[in-house]
Amino acid sequence: MCNVPELFGSMVFTESVMREKLPQDVYKKLKKTIGIGTKLDPDVANAVAAAMKDWAIEKGATHFTHWFQPMTGITAEKHDSFITPVGDGKVIMEFSGKMLIQGEPDASSFPSGGLRATFEARGYTAWDPTSPAFVKEKTLCIPTAFCSYGGEVLDKKTPLLRSMEALSKQALRILRLFGNKEAVAVSTTVGPEQEYFLVDQELFEQRPDLLLTGRTLFGAKPPKGQELEDHYFGVIKTRVKEFMEDLDEELWKLGILSKTEHNEVAPAQHEIAPIFSTTNMACDQNQLTMEILKKVAERHGLACLLHEKPFAGVNGSGKHNNWSMATDLGENLLEPGKTPHENVQFLIFLTAVIKAVDIYADLLRVSTATAGNDHRLGANEAPPAIVSVFLGSQLSAVLEDIAAGRLYADAGQAWLDSGVAVLPPLPKDNTDRNRTSPFAFTGNKFEFRAMGSAQSISCTNMILNTAVAEILSEFASRLESADDFAAEVQKIVVEAYNAHKRVVFNGNSYSDEWPLEAAARGLHNYRTAPEALPHYLDPANVALLNKHGVLFPIEIESRTEVLLENYIKVLTIEAQTMLSMTRTDILPAASAYAASLTRAALDKKALSALIPVAYEESTIAEISQVSACLYQNSKALDDALIESRGIEDAAACASFIGETVVERMNLLRQNADTLETLVSSEYWPYPTYSDLLFRV
Ligand code: ADP
Ligand code: MG
Repeated sequence: MCNVPELFGSMVFTESVMREKLPQDVYKKLKKTIGIGTKLDPDVANAVAAAMKDWAIEKGATHFTHWFQPMTGITAEKHDSFITPVGDGKVIMEFSGKMLIQGEPDASSFPSGGLRATFEARGYTAWDPTSPAFVKEKTLCIPTAFCSYGGEVLDKKTPLLRSMEALSKQALRILRLFGNKEAVAVSTTVGPEQEYFLVDQELFEQRPDLLLTGRTLFGAKPPKGQELEDHYFGVIKTRVKEFMEDLDEELWKLGILSKTEHNEVAPAQHEIAPIFSTTNMACDQNQLTMEILKKVAERHGLACLLHEKPFAGVNGSGKHNNWSMATDLGENLLEPGKTPHENVQFLIFLTAVIKAVDIYADLLRVSTATAGNDHRLGANEAPPAIVSVFLGSQLSAVLEDIAAGRLYADAGQAWLDSGVAVLPPLPKDNTDRNRTSPFAFTGNKFEFRAMGSAQSISCTNMILNTAVAEILSEFASRLESADDFAAEVQKIVVEAYNAHKRVVFNGNSYSDEWPLEAAARGLHNYRTAPEALPHYLDPANVALLNKHGVLFPIEIESRTEVLLENYIKVLTIEAQTMLSMTRTDILPAASAYAASLTRAALDKKALSALIPVAYEESTIAEISQVSACLYQNSKALDDALIESRGIEDAAACASFIGETVVERMNLLRQNADTLETLVSSEYWPYPTYSDLLFRV
């Protein structure tokens, strides 16, 4: 086994490497940029570039890349070698501050939602010094932001960084009012728990649906699924354990704090969770984790599926976004305090989050709206599409009492007398943990559980940060101009809680009653991505993101367009894959098997009229009947696809696809899955669910 402390971060240009390799004044200036976001001067960049190059070459790097996150939701990299000719057929390895700070990839093939015409294909990448550079596969990777020639944002990192700045600014205003003079920045922190499936690579390659769409589009229910509940936290198979060991090593090398690994609910499903870090780092590292999961799996003859719903009938995969706010001195602002003073501050931040989630619930929903995640949300395995907040009975009781002007029963001190609230000590792990809530308070952080496993965590956190920043700014303005600070604090908490407690729900979000009650409370329930996505453009949402300088209206329009187009493309590819599998594999297999049964029946009859041929005859009839339906339904699906191509408007097209195309895909699947149960396994063209789920 490797020496973990030595291995950890060995491929990262960490702070301690910088301290060691950089002249002291350069290091100090860079650190200021990283810590509180001051502008970087060119001399510093040159010195950093030189040190970075020497370090990277020591680690075996020959190339560098500006590593960025376009709106595809995955990462992009274009490698350039360090070589520069010096005449006489010789080269030196060169890397300047300019090359570090800015790159100019041809960006014409990245989605821009109409922001960037192809004749203006230039895009710029700009170094993000707040996320450390690293060496991966002999390439120095420099985390960068990506924008168009005109300066419009084309990536997922820039708005996230802007939202972190917005939140920091507003949270500091509140902290100052509570007498905190030391903190100079507030970061949001995130620990994303990542779920995934592992299947055998060879079997994976035999399924065009997995290969092309990342999920099974067909597959009859296996005799055994997850009903025995024997996989969750079960003993990890040797092959998987070896994969996990290898995975950890790769992640640790890149400074990713991989911490927890276990089997999940569905067979062949697993989870990996890191220790939390600042949101920006967490986002970069989650992208890397997803990439490395796939690469390491291949080395072990496995395929890692990150899709939200690789298999019907068993749980899909999500990503739990654990989120909090912390000062640069390490104070977690969602930690209920030990002193009354800390408690009041906690209550202000807590109610700000509750209010933000209630007002911008639709935006949070938008951030989880993808074709893949549509299979999970509301399917009684993941939180519903209704965004609500779980506080737990104890914290809810505290807030209820404060809001009603009562003292909290357990409190030792009077709220009204002293102007401060005394919370009872809250257990760190809420005793009444609730797994069905999309947004649950878990002791000293919130856990947003609606995200899909394949998604970048950037958009959700950008929205969360900005929404909370907005409410904090509102609270700060009131408090700054208040004559009686304590009384105003109380008023804010009471007003905010009373006005927004409709979003608080401590019950079972999977129950049939909840959608009805939620509707009565006026909460949104956008069941599908086509229903949710257009709300990105609601005036209040555009105003929020614009006000805090996170995304400008034209950028939000482009993002909405990209998301809708992505939905349309994903569904179209899935439908086309289904049609091709149906026509070239499934129908021919059914027909061939029916023919072989026909021959068998004829042979038997030729031998003697007394031999029963019930199995052959009834199966032939059934196969023929279902095949005819399948054929009809394939034509209907084809028609729907053709119709969808004629719908110009992206929102209208997505919504047509979400209804008509999806409905016809479901019919097609039903027919094909019935055939799978009728046709001999020898004739069936694909590995079955049993093979995929239990053969690792
Ligand atoms: P569970 O599966 O019970 O929800 P885990 O321990 O698997 O819990 O995951 C909890 C995640 O929350 C971890 O990634 C952890 O680092 C993260 N976390 C803990 N404290 C914070 C915090 N203050 N801010 C953000 N994330 C946090
Ligand atoms: Mg969790």
